[in-house]
Amino acid sequence: MSDRPVRVRFAPSPTGPLHIGGVRTALYNYLYARQYGGKFLLRIEDTDQKRFVQGAEEYINQSLAWLGIDIDEGVVEGGNFGPYKQSERMDKYATYAEQLVNDGFAYYAFDTPDELNEMRAKLEANNMSAKYDATSRMSMKNSLTLSEDDVKERMERGDKYIVRIKLPRNKEIRFHDEIRGWIVFNSSQLDDKVLLKEDGLPTYHLANIVDDHLMEISHVIRGEEWLPSAPLHVMLYRYLGWEDTMPKFAHLPLILKPDGKGKLSKRDGDRLGFPVFPLEWKSPEGEISSGYRESGYMPAAVVNMLAMLGWHPSDNQELFTIEELIQTFSLERVSKSGAKFDMDKSKWYNHQFLMKASSQELRAMVADAVTDVHTSRGEAYLLKVLDMLKEKVSFANEILPLGQYFFASPAAYDKKVQRKKWKGEVPTHIANYINGLLEGNHDNAEAMESYLQTYANEQGVGKGTLMQPLRWAVTGQAGGPPIFEMLELLGLEEIKQRLQIVAEKVPQA
Ligand code: GLU
Repeated sequence: MSDRPVRVRFAPSPTGPLHIGGVRTALYNYLYARQYGGKFLLRIEDTDQKRFVQGAEEYINQSLAWLGIDIDEGVVEGGNFGPYKQSERMDKYATYAEQLVNDGFAYYAFDTPDELNEMRAKLEANNMSAKYDATSRMSMKNSLTLSEDDVKERMERGDKYIVRIKLPRNKEIRFHDEIRGWIVFNSSQLDDKVLLKEDGLPTYHLANIVDDHLMEISHVIRGEEWLPSAPLHVMLYRYLGWEDTMPKFAHLPLILKPDGKGKLSKRDGDRLGFPVFPLEWKSPEGEISSGYRESGYMPAAVVNMLAMLGWHPSDNQELFTIEELIQTFSLERVSKSGAKFDMDKSKWYNHQFLMKASSQELRAMVADAVTDVHTSRGEAYLLKVLDMLKEKVSFANEILPLGQYFFASPAAYDKKVQRKKWKGEVPTHIANYINGLLEGNHDNAEAMESYLQTYANEQGVGKGTLMQPLRWAVTGQAGGPPIFEMLELLGLEEIKQRLQIVAEKVPQA
């Protein structure tokens, strides 16, 4: 439990479509906020205007909305800690960079690109790492090496400069991660990162820390790729005098490729045949990447699947609604090691949620594919078909093509079943049975089944040997939903016609 009001943020940079790894980060933040009655913020980190991609911010909003990840404070929602877009907060950062310089925790650097290259080459030639850090900075052009007058003069005449953090040499930087425990870095592993760029605008590091502080963020829950930046962030909190209210950190494990070899990348999805984006994305250049929504996934299934990629409950429960996840989720049960993406498992989740869907929900999911043919026997009939076939498919959009025979006589007849089963006395038995159904008006599943038993007993044949040919004669297929329920739904009249079609049109195999 946290001692501060829980305020968490998802802070994507609008540099392209949101990858499912990012969606999972948003989801975990959301679940955490809801569990503790806290707030979930969406902050758009667009300090790097060069990487800005048209439509990306809207895509983020639409993706979260589709998945039911509601934002409490954000660009669209507003809130008391705005603006929530960094490009609209540009006036807030420079003063903190100044403060750091004045307090001796940062410095101005005037090195030109050529000078920087020269330094790198020199260091590399001496087998040293080419970093601008506690060792190398004293031989560079900055406010630590130049005289005060020189610095002043350079600034007055408009020389370009940046602000770099001044990290100590060989100091241990320790912080606690809610998932990984105590993390220790040595400051010598880091470099004097740029905080303020030549144009006076902040880098990600400065803007991120200042905003997390000003927005009173209690927990920073983000991807593992940010772990190497965390010691720098800890130093910034310390140097800015904000260590008391420093957020707690939780670095989530990577989502790995299905074979476990490396991080699941944006390119992997379409290469391996599954979506890695929540919604279909069309790049400004017109390139299309597939999305979960367009591939027929239900949002609840995607939420469940993502929740389980890196987190698991204390028991074996696998199916959770988002409300149940809010109750059960905990950072302690997030794993430290990467989670392999599993496409079959994703489909399995969708299948599970389809089975739980009501016929009305299914109807809405297939709405675009419904034609007059599908409604020719009325809405109630269509709903029953959807309900009957949902357990046979992974995606709702597979139902109508699979159930073609519910709306018209079979488009094709399985040749293999015909060859193996539609021979000898079988066609006669099936005809007799169907005629018997009509004569006795056995029009419900139970009566149809018991009449098959009666007929089989009278004829001295196994009931089982008649079932598959019966299904085949009516649907053209080898398998399908429970046979008598299917026959009841089709109705006696339709079954009679199907028998005629088989007798007249289907040649012997
Ligand atoms: N803007 C960073 C990103 O794109 C945010 C990282 C963080 O959460 O601190 O992921």
